[in-house]
Amino acid sequence: EIVSSNLERSALYGGEIAGQGPRYCPSIEDKIVKFPNASRHQLFLEPEGLDTVEMYVNGLSTSLPANVQLEMLRSVPGMENVRMTRTGYAIEYDYYPPHQLRPTLELKALPGLLLAGQINGTTGYEEAAGQGLLAGANAALQALGREPLVLQRDDAFIGVLVDDLVTKGTDEPYRLFTSRAEFRLLLRQDNAVARLGAIAEGVGLLTEVQRLRRRVIEDTTVRARSWLRETNARPEQVNALLETVGSAPLREPTAVANLLRRPGVTVGLLRGAVEPALDDSLDGLQGVLAGLEMEERYAGYIARERDRADALRRNGDFPLPLELPYAQLHSLSHEARQKLERVRPGTLGQAGRIPGISPSDLQNLVMEVRKRTGTQGALSGATESVPRGTCGAG
Ligand SMILES: Cc1cc2nc3c(=O)[nH]c(=O)nc-3n(C[C@H](O)[C@H](O)[C@H](O)COP(=O)(O)OP(=O)(O)OC[C@H]3O[C@@H](n4cnc5c(N)ncnc54)[C@H](O)[C@@H]3O)c2cc1C
Repeated sequence: EIVSSNLERSALYGGEIAGQGPRYCPSIEDKIVKFPNASRHQLFLEPEGLDTVEMYVNGLSTSLPANVQLEMLRSVPGMENVRMTRTGYAIEYDYYPPHQLRPTLELKALPGLLLAGQINGTTGYEEAAGQGLLAGANAALQALGREPLVLQRDDAFIGVLVDDLVTKGTDEPYRLFTSRAEFRLLLRQDNAVARLGAIAEGVGLLTEVQRLRRRVIEDTTVRARSWLRETNARPEQVNALLETVGSAPLREPTAVANLLRRPGVTVGLLRGAVEPALDDSLDGLQGVLAGLEMEERYAGYIARERDRADALRRNGDFPLPLELPYAQLHSLSHEARQKLERVRPGTLGQAGRIPGISPSDLQNLVMEVRKRTGTQGALSGATESVPRGTCGAG
């Protein structure tokens, strides 16, 4: 009642703030309007620190006037006498349209200036930090006269984030959900070192300690992987154990790696029974084993996803000159010309991910580029293989 009867006094609802708030952090005004039938709403009182009595009221973000906020707080059972030391408030940001950036996060219009974080239309700590890392690295690489760092969608979540931003732009605060990545079997936490270690080291982002640690992890991975694949479990060693997890007995020696594909069978289950034993003293073994177990268990699915990512890269890497006169490319649809002009993608893959660009537009685009640059470049089955509709949630 308190919120509803004061809605027009909220900056978010009264028209003072025109921007779209982060979809995933709605204000209490938003919640009351969107879920009028909800009978309860949970608040969390979080201590602000060890040496203060102040509490942060989580779940009550608002832009209502201070007296209304106090009235709301005091209407909560147990908080009748609460004092409000600071009011909640709404904020509005301007942002730079991210489709005007290169995948290095450098402005197309002003080479040498790179942007990272919320200014590119994102919201969130990790989103800001990831971009900061990439833009910082690219600023340094540029100053050193070296090749830029561009992460692809199958390299890293940062690659997904940046590709989404520079390809599609955003009209509301962008949040990087795991569901935005199409290669989620490849982008795992447990394979981060294998996936990104060489790239990070190549551009000089690793400290000496991290470099050495990477070597250790890689060495442990190689040894543990060959143990899994080359160690055969014999029926008399493991059949009793397999029975405990309801798995069929072995008739002949079978590699441990293959047994991991059975439901319920883990390295932990078999490790003590087979010979030779896995060297326990290997540095970082526990973490490495967890990753390898997953890799072996889902090997078929992972290989399929890797093939798909590689195929997309092969065709998607076809370079598009930044200065292409899209408005004059009459073999493309009107919509495609407009959208390509706006985004100016760097590769055919990026062009294919712009909503509204059709497979035939892509074919014609390749012809136009070849005509202008005299290049050939591989493009097998572009109509099927160029990534389309693979980004976004789901
Ligand atoms: C109340 C609130 C709660 C949030 N909760 C979460 C959360 O739980 N989880 C989450 O992931 N995200 C959360 N966010 C979002 C997240 O905090 C931001 O998206 C993120 O911190 C943005 O980082 P940034 O480095 O891009 O920008 P900022 O952290 O805003 O950094 C920009 C910096 O630039 C400085 N600056 C501005 N102008 C100038 C100038 N002219 N010269 C020099 N310096 C300048 C500013 O002082 C500031 O320090 C929250 C945001 C708010 C407001």
